[in-house]
Amino acid sequence: MTGVPLEIRCRRYSDDDLELYLMVRLNAEITREIDEHLLLCGTCRRTVEELDDFLRLLRISLAEVAELPPEQLRREGDVSFTPDWRVREA
Ligand SMILES: [Zn+2]
Repeated sequence: MTGVPLEIRCRRYSDDDLELYLMVRLNAEITREIDEHLLLCGTCRRTVEELDDFLRLLRISLAEVAELPPEQLRREGDVSFTPDWRVREA
């Protein structure tokens, strides 16, 4: 035994497919196909719910980053930042 969950996972759509579906990036035909599949398939429905939660959290954290003042973002992203003690040593 390798610890694989006993639950049989539906292989019809990958997580990526379902993520695109949630972000409304798929064409209307595939979107309708997945809509219909979700009515029948509890596994995919649960995956979509989990992805939906995840995307919601992601959107919230992106919104928080967007509200930070630009100076703060620059400081956090600055890889060439030199600590004080190094400046003094040089
Ligand atoms: Zn399914």
